[in-house]
Amino acid sequence: MRDVTALLASLPTGLWIDGQQAKASEGATFPVHDPATGEVLLEVADATAGDGARALDAAAACQREWAATPTRVRAEILRRAWELVIERRDDFALLMTLEMGKPLAESDGEVTYGAEFLRWFSEEAVRVHGRFTPSPSGNGRILVTKQPVGPTLAITPWNFPLAMGTRKIAPALAAGCTMLVKPAPETPLTMLLLGQVFADAGLPPGVLSILPTSRAAQLTDPMFADPRLRKVTFTGSTAVGKILLAQAATHVLRTSMELGGNAPFVVFADANLDDAVDGAMAAKMRNIGEACTAANRFHVDNAVRQEFTAKLTARMRALKIGPGHLDGVQVGPLINERQRNTVSELVFDAVAKGAVVTTGGASQPGPGYFFEPTLLTDVPADARILREEVFGPVAAITGFDGEAEGIAAANDTEFGLAAYIYTTDLNRALRVGESLESGMVGINRGIISDVAAPFGGIKQSGLGREAGTEGIEEYLETKYLALP
Ligand code: NAD
Repeated sequence: MRDVTALLASLPTGLWIDGQQAKASEGATFPVHDPATGEVLLEVADATAGDGARALDAAAACQREWAATPTRVRAEILRRAWELVIERRDDFALLMTLEMGKPLAESDGEVTYGAEFLRWFSEEAVRVHGRFTPSPSGNGRILVTKQPVGPTLAITPWNFPLAMGTRKIAPALAAGCTMLVKPAPETPLTMLLLGQVFADAGLPPGVLSILPTSRAAQLTDPMFADPRLRKVTFTGSTAVGKILLAQAATHVLRTSMELGGNAPFVVFADANLDDAVDGAMAAKMRNIGEACTAANRFHVDNAVRQEFTAKLTARMRALKIGPGHLDGVQVGPLINERQRNTVSELVFDAVAKGAVVTTGGASQPGPGYFFEPTLLTDVPADARILREEVFGPVAAITGFDGEAEGIAAANDTEFGLAAYIYTTDLNRALRVGESLESGMVGINRGIISDVAAPFGGIKQSGLGREAGTEGIEEYLETKYLALP
């Protein structure tokens, strides 16, 4: 494994503005912590509104030239960035484990997944098409072209420090947009290292700026009001998404929103229960439960509920908890004390209302912000955990009788990001899959993210899609040229 001290000493900790590492204008820094110990890893530059203005100046100044850069050239830069992330795989993986807490094997998986957006959109860059048709009236011709939206602000969360950035940066650059990235303050180091990758890959100065800050709104509010900014793409909580949507409305700024989830995991009586338990472990425990696609609510047909609960309990009880860089660890710490308190409160509330704990149920003593893998069953309908995103290693089981009741329970939420169903009946899989109110449905699968598939939610889980062939559309305007 890469030496931690050597890795930390090699990292960029300044802002990336105009292709350079820069100090924040007031010289301020803020600390980045290791959630497994609570200790400070490094101090990074703390961007101010003035730094944001400088970065937007640079983005606006090179927008036209970047848009006019041949798509093959843009594609080659993205391709090179993909190669460099893969070459530096060990650094990226260890760094994500250090600043976010996930087990090293999962960080390594995120390197592959996150880098893949760079390769995928390097391939999509050269396949942006318009169309040419005669008008049905016989009067004139219609030429439809696609143009980059323009300078875009990306605001990203801490749970996938690399992939939530590359899923935005890669399609934006492929489409010909310049971009300012404000990473989450918990995990800015991964994004700053990605800035180094882009500098090394030959990205022209100004096209991409990276602006960590401890004062998000102070940095981004003035950008929303600046007419040179043309779009905001956000991944994070629904609560913050609503604030940003309101701000964007004032300036009629285009938005993409990847927001919170509260995914149901529905097990029908005809499911293969061993497969369902495997899928449940993946859908619940990936990323320590801190994934927007994480299964939150397990709705299990009462005919198989006891057996499913016993099998899942045994699997969750066997998980090894600890700092993510240690061998064999499957469950790392939660991101911070606040997140651990939220998880504790949701478990406490459910138990107080009558839920039964079959394994886990408590925080682990410090250092670090560990919470035991926890399974709750007989969770009553009024428990907060069935309504609110838990973002931790806690599964809540409730029973249902028959397909209609299962679908109704799954859809009983204002969220609509991911859903999972387990059944061996193909007709039921299609019928239920079409009835679920969510942007993505896993059918006999616990992991659904795929660079080639459209990722996104409906209802209060968001607007727009990332990845797939749809992802680049978020960064393109459609223009109609009326021809004689
Ligand atoms: P968060 O909403 O607290 O923060 C997200 C980002 O927004 C951070 O960079 C934060 O600094 C910034 N931010 C907060 N307030 C802001 C403001 N007023 N102005 C500008 N920026 C502001 O979310 P989080 O805790 O970092 O991430 C967890 C949430 O993200 C969960 O709800 C999860 O479901 C969601 N998420 C969604 C997806 C998806 O694709 N749908 C993917 C990952 C995470």
